[in-house]
Amino acid sequence: MKILVVEDELKTGNFLKQGLLEAGFGVDLARDGDDGLHYALTDAYDLVVLDVMLPGIDGWAVLQGIRKSGKDMPVLFLSARDQVDDRVRGLELGADDYLVKPFAFSELLARVRTLLRRGGKTTESEFLRAANLELDLMRRRVSRSGKRIDLTAKEFALLELLLRRQGEVLPRSLIASQVWDMNFDSDTNVIEVAVRRLRAKMDDGFEPKLIRTVRGMGYVLEASECD
Ligand code: CA
Repeated sequence: MKILVVEDELKTGNFLKQGLLEAGFGVDLARDGDDGLHYALTDAYDLVVLDVMLPGIDGWAVLQGIRKSGKDMPVLFLSARDQVDDRVRGLELGADDYLVKPFAFSELLARVRTLLRRGGKTTESEFLRAANLELDLMRRRVSRSGKRIDLTAKEFALLELLLRRQGEVLPRSLIASQVWDMNFDSDTNVIEVAVRRLRAKMDDGFEPKLIRTVRGMGYVLEASECD
């Protein structure tokens, strides 16, 4: 699941991004209102965390722009001001929830999960599956043939990406940018190590083998019938 964070305060923005990444979400961070709206309209997000006071257009205008475009992903407002007016205004404009700064990250994460669950109207299933592998998006759990497999946040994100794009060969550079949010020019060792670890956990001891290396190209997850 992908979340857009629109926050101009450097520290808060980085903290939110890092925390949400560690919780297993894909995260884009915009530093002002104009960028925020642009991101929201050009990419597909499951949720937006939106600061009210922003350089350029403010959070209200970003929200209006999002709703005007017909996008109905949940929006969680962040505000330093604990004003009833703000809260009412935000909700009237179509915000789904409202959090006053300063807040604990655990509080934000709980709200995000609730909104995503409630917003299940995205018609997205809460499960991704391949053969006897099942990934539960809401509970952040993975199992094979009903047997629970413990993954780190990164391994989970990697497996989620492979499952969402089943049957497609994913180049290392794409995996790097989607899961690590980085661009690896040459050093793809990080990816190789992560894929090896993930395989050891979810393919060793199970059939069929699901993750395959395509030499010189990348990785693919598929439940191939000839295995
Ligand atoms: Ca701000």
